[in-house]
Amino acid sequence: MNQKNVVLDLLYPKRCPLCDELRPYGEGVVCRACLGRLKRIEMPCCMRCGKTLEREEDEYCQDCSRIPKSYERGFPVFVYREPLKGALYEFKYKNQRQYGAFFADCICGQYGEMLQGLGFDGLVPVPVHRNKRRRRGYNQAEVLAGYLGRRLNLPVYPDYLQRIVDTNPQKELNDAERMKNLKNAFKIGQNKIKLDQILLVDDIYTSGATVEACTRVLLAAGAGMVCYTSVAIGKGY
Ligand SMILES: [Zn+2]
Ligand SMILES: [Zn+2]
Repeated sequence: MNQKNVVLDLLYPKRCPLCDELRPYGEGVVCRACLGRLKRIEMPCCMRCGKTLEREEDEYCQDCSRIPKSYERGFPVFVYREPLKGALYEFKYKNQRQYGAFFADCICGQYGEMLQGLGFDGLVPVPVHRNKRRRRGYNQAEVLAGYLGRRLNLPVYPDYLQRIVDTNPQKELNDAERMKNLKNAFKIGQNKIKLDQILLVDDIYTSGATVEACTRVLLAAGAGMVCYTSVAIGKGY
């Protein structure tokens, strides 16, 4: 094994992050079978949230047409479904933080040049409440932002936003309830730095309520433009 391979082996898990099988040497981070099962976001996509459009002639998806968004543009990489779903679960709950390296590579592979061209001041991960952070030991969005910041050569501000309300899972809620639930959930965490162009980072974009709530706080604090990127995006509501 040459030195580069040794380093790569330390950086990347020997198991495929998607099926957890030992990956054959030289196959890359994700085994070939899983790579074929990942569903990338394809053009044409929504000019707002970035998900693949169902009707080519549309500019915005149904979600974004129905509920206008405050952020400028979204950069999600994959459709949220298996086998990625399981890997994202382990990334969030099972301490598989190293998957973040692969996810950051995917974001850069798809949007790297575009993101670098947009002139962001920095990356802000979507925060979790400190109770959750204590329980899990880390915030997966922050881990992802860390890997991504190094690849994009941009600073990461993990404390820029704070989650001050420990919200319950939002699966059962409708749009209005989700927004209400999150209305006062976030605040600016520190005031020493003022960011103007911000890239929000999260693992999964589902209804968009979380990104929307974060964006509103950032804009109210003086940000000029907020975009988001995520590993996966739901099909919409
Ligand atoms: Zn696999
Ligand atoms: Zn959309």
